Amino acid sequence: MSFRQICLLLAALLALLPARAQAAGDWKLVKHQGRDHVTVANIANFYGFTSQTSSGNSFRLATGRTSLSGSVGSVEILINGIKFIMSYPAEQVNGQILISRMDLSKLIEPVLRPGRIQGGANSRTIILDAGHGGHDTGARGLWGNEKNFTLDVANRARDLLTRLGYQVKMTRSTDRFIPLHERAAFANRHPNALFISIHFNSSNNRDATGIETFTLAPRGVPSTWQDGPRVSDFQLCAGNARDAENMVLATAAHASMLRRLRMPDRGIKRARFVVIREIKIPGVLLEGGFVTHSTDSRRIASPAYRQEMAYSIVDAVKSYRTAVSGAATRPVAVQANADGTSETPTVILQSAN
Ligand SMILES: [Zn+2]
Repeated sequence: MSFRQICLLLAALLALLPARAQAAGDWKLVKHQGRDHVTVANIANFYGFTSQTSSGNSFRLATGRTSLSGSVGSVEILINGIKFIMSYPAEQVNGQILISRMDLSKLIEPVLRPGRIQGGANSRTIILDAGHGGHDTGARGLWGNEKNFTLDVANRARDLLTRLGYQVKMTRSTDRFIPLHERAAFANRHPNALFISIHFNSSNNRDATGIETFTLAPRGVPSTWQDGPRVSDFQLCAGNARDAENMVLATAAHASMLRRLRMPDRGIKRARFVVIREIKIPGVLLEGGFVTHSTDSRRIASPAYRQEMAYSIVDAVKSYRTAVSGAATRPVAVQANADGTSETPTVILQSAN
């Protein structure tokens, strides 16, 4: 994926023309293993994908510069080259490829049509949450501890955002311990804001590398590492009121990090971490690489890398705001150059009808 493609991911996603889309009633639900699903063909038709191909186990939908691909038996899908980890794998039944209704409504829909989110938060207040601190060092890396790297990225992002006129609030701005519940409570004192939690990963597997982004699991679906939902997964969390915005913010942040940091893409995943579960504002948790990986850790230890991660947070905020802005609630098209190589796409607002 080119620099420009990722940069413009969200704008490109708006290229899907709802003009071809039909009323929601045109979804035809298919029951499989006790869960509602829709067919990939139904998704193609609803969102106006003009090309639908499959070979072997894999499928691909495309229109203009937007694509969605995956394979049967896998929870991974790529939307414009960005990896998302679905709650349930794609299935094949009677020659039809099925996607769970949950993944349609909580993942595909907000990513493809972010402008349709009702009352999407469009705040200029950003809460930066530097993970860990004080006696909680976080992951211990080859070149330093997570708590110091997260605080440095948060400070850099604060400076950049402040210069752009955003109000920035930090859950911590020094090396001190703050319990997770207090971080969420702090976020909830700012009702019209975005929450970005900054972390770095560790693993016993020294080969684990790359970036991943966590967004709150919708009610009733398992977190990414579980086999099936647990009883507790059916409790409604405060953060679930923001499911759609959470997914858009995660997409914006993940795409920005991929572009800026050029790290392996581990995907946008689901979790119920306290800080994204208990907040009432849109939130996301970023994992900017592995402090336990030889290459990742050396990069994370460099100020230049952390500055790029800070820039990616700024990009994420801007992309998110554009995506959920009221302007995008109308059908939009992206105008590419005739040769298809384009690049600054022009968003064309079409008359409502
Ligand atoms: Zn952490």
